[in-house]
Amino acid sequence: MHTPTPTQTHFLSADDVVAIVRTLGVAECLRGMAEAIRADYLRWHDFDKQARVASHSETGVIELMPVSDGDTYAFKYVNGHPSNGRFGLPTVMAFGVLADVATGVPVLLSELTLATAIRTAAMSVVAARVLARADAACMALIGNGAQSEFQALAFHHLLGISEIRVFDADPAATHKLMVNLEQTGLRVVACKSTKDAVRGADIVTTVTADKTNATIITPDMLEPGMHINGVGGDCPGKTELHPDVLRAARVFVEYEPQTRVEGDLQHLEAAFPVTEIWRVLQGQAQGRVARQEVTVFDSVGFALEDYSALRYLHACARKLGVGQAITLIPALVNPKNLFGSVHSIAEAQAPTATLVLA
Ligand code: NAD
Repeated sequence: MHTPTPTQTHFLSADDVVAIVRTLGVAECLRGMAEAIRADYLRWHDFDKQARVASHSETGVIELMPVSDGDTYAFKYVNGHPSNGRFGLPTVMAFGVLADVATGVPVLLSELTLATAIRTAAMSVVAARVLARADAACMALIGNGAQSEFQALAFHHLLGISEIRVFDADPAATHKLMVNLEQTGLRVVACKSTKDAVRGADIVTTVTADKTNATIITPDMLEPGMHINGVGGDCPGKTELHPDVLRAARVFVEYEPQTRVEGDLQHLEAAFPVTEIWRVLQGQAQGRVARQEVTVFDSVGFALEDYSALRYLHACARKLGVGQAITLIPALVNPKNLFGSVHSIAEAQAPTATLVLA
């Protein structure tokens, strides 16, 4: 790839990001992404933050997720359409931009569908490191769709989980996951139900997609010391945890104003106490305090994580020489003469203007 000129944009296609992940390996990408996310959460106050802007429809949601640290501005476009499978499309699709705050030039335009799965799994582990029991070895994984293998591998490589107990309402999804995770070193056990999968697990990850207030995890399934990593409840009217699961636990969130609206937390009263995870990472609040307590990470996905993902991808792409320079912004000799770029066409179509001096 040749280096972009100051007005050009580094473009990473879906194939480019696949090439980066294949070259580095999924485990290394998960590790790098987790490091990048953690480092950015450690400088939480550098960021100008806001809840994402959502446009809801009957079938799903389209969201824009902006954030800036004053030097670099980032946004992600992402959708959530749980019934997209019938069109041969993924539930979640995304792309994103990094821009230079000083000039507004878009520096990077990248696919973020694959990258979102990696960043979400990496974020789950960043939270679980301070919330799950240190000796956690077994994880239940409910929902075996597009995100699921990344969650399984993140917990395996970064947290030492050796066994996962899996369940999906669609047996074909579980079969796909089991084939994909062969020879990864993970022991994968297919279970007959969510209840069966959750029994005896140290960590429970829910990553289902259904545009409904589902109760995938109910209070009777909780066991002392469990950590719940609730990933799929991320939109008004789309949740996974029974409200009493949250009431029985200490609950941790990414950015409270967003999670109150989008997370499983949406079912609870506004005063229900939660802790933003950056406070735990920075040592200002405690994560797990007792072996027997139940913890919940009510994950919805926050723009900061996509900023981290885009910056990590950009660094990898430059190191590996992946992607291409594209021209999104016109390169003008005289920046005030935008009209000059179309002048010859205008000349052919319109009468010559006359300059009249008063
Ligand atoms: P997907 O459609 O590929 O897979 C979802 C799976 O859930 C499907 O296989 C489906 O059969 C299964 N499922 C639905 N209802 C179920 C139930 N009651 N019990 C068991 N399984 C059930 O979707 P995906 O891309 O894997 O995304 C999963 C979820 O994660 C979505 O809800 C998505 O919005 C969410 N997500 C969250 C974040 C975040 O940062 N928190 C990021 C990405 C995706």
